[in-house]
Order: sequence, then structure tokens, then C-alpha cells
Amino acid sequence: MIHLKSEEEIELIRQSSLLVGKTLAEVARVIGPGITTKALDKVAEEFILDHGAKPGFKGYHGFPATLCVSVNEVVVHGIPSHRELKDGDIVSVDCGVVMNGYYGDSAFTFAVGEVDAKVVALVETTRQSLEQALEKAVAGNRIGDIGYAVQSFVEARGYSVVRDLVGHGLGRNLHEAPEVPNYGRRGTGARLQPGLVIAIEPMINLGTKSVVQERDGWTIRTADRLPSAHFEHDVVVRQGQAEVLSTFEFIDEVLKSRN
Ligand code: MG
Ligand code: MG
Repeated sequence: MIHLKSEEEIELIRQSSLLVGKTLAEVARVIGPGITTKALDKVAEEFILDHGAKPGFKGYHGFPATLCVSVNEVVVHGIPSHRELKDGDIVSVDCGVVMNGYYGDSAFTFAVGEVDAKVVALVETTRQSLEQALEKAVAGNRIGDIGYAVQSFVEARGYSVVRDLVGHGLGRNLHEAPEVPNYGRRGTGARLQPGLVIAIEPMINLGTKSVVQERDGWTIRTADRLPSAHFEHDVVVRQGQAEVLSTFEFIDEVLKSRN
């Protein structure tokens, strides 16, 4: 069942989503060659706890960490570890928090050092595909319009869309109805209504769309081990224009100051 949110609920989701954006900016400050993915997780967890919230992923179906840190061919759900990042890696960092009973959930793909131009283009196209999707998250459209926007944009540029994992509704639960696929047909699926809060999160691959799960029960990687990128925003469907509740503003500021 789809639960449309009141303005009071939207405000609480906004606060949680904002904290996720600030947490990812803390990750942006320290990410680089030589740091372990576990060290990134520690930075995020401490920042979230210091701000009166709780990590949204830790303990969710038994997930062991605050962040999902997914390097190169890992699409999503990478478990932080003692692996050191190295020059040329791309890293999807996905973060959730829960505060005052409501979740925020957002992800950003970082480039570590000098990344191959082909892979940089994948990352940039994935971020742009999220922008394309946001434009369709308006009242009167359908879920399929969002997926179509992502799919048509990235496939025209030679990339593929992961089918096995999708975006989702968001609120008192991390994952609520409806599912929000990154592929689809225009004019199909549930009608978008004002007050619907969804996480839109394109997962785009350089090669095949096929993915496999590693034996740890979490890590999802591309079947051909080519890189994958991932960006995620929380948005509320409005009349005329979607309102984005999460933000990359703090991340972009940090990355700009580090260049
Ligand atoms: Mg997420
Ligand atoms: Mg999500």
C-alpha cells in the first residue's frame, strides 16, 4: 500500500535526508587513496550519532555497517572492510539515517584520484540520469515515466540499467511501496500523487546489466566485473515540480575545495 505523507512527515524526512547529505560530505572530506572503506564507515557513524540520529542501515536485515561502500564493479551493498581505496577507483557510498522515526537515504559515487575517462563519463551520466528522473517525479505522471527517463538517457549513451535492484518509497520504513525501477515504459505503473516520497537511485553499468550476489549475502557486483555507478536522492512528488529532500550540495562544496 502506498502511504502519502503529510507536510509534517515530509519535514521530518527532509531533516533525515539533510543529515545524510551532510554525512556524505564528511565522507567526501576524507575519501582518497589509502583510506579503508571501514574508516569511511566510522566517520559516517560518528557524525550521525553526534547529530542525534541513528544509522539507518546498521542492523537492517542484519546489515553490519552504517554505509554501503561499493567499489568499481560492486553495484551496491558493499560491506565496509579493511580494503584500501586506490587511485582510479570509483566508490558508491550509500548512507541511511533514522531520526524522529523517519528515514533519509542517499548515495553518491566518488572518484578516487585519477579515474579513467571512460569511467568518469559513466559516473557523470549516472548522475545526469538521476536529474532526468527527478524531472518526471511530478503529480500526474506514472512510475514508468521515471524509469523510462533513466533508461532512455543511459542506453542512448551505451550504458546499461541494473534491473535487479530498484528505488523505493521512504518514510517510517527504509523501504516502502512503491518500487521505483530505473527502467520502464512511459505511461505505465502507479500514478504519482502529491505527497508521495520516493528514493530514486539509478544503478548504471559500463557493460552488461547482469549482476550477481557475492557469497557474503550482501555485495552485488556486475557479472562482467566492469564498473557500475550509483546516485540516489529522496524526493517528494509535487504538482509541477518534484521537491528534492536530500542534497549533494555539501558534497560538491567539499569536493570543489579539495581540488
Ligand atoms: Mg540508499
Ligand atoms: Mg535506497
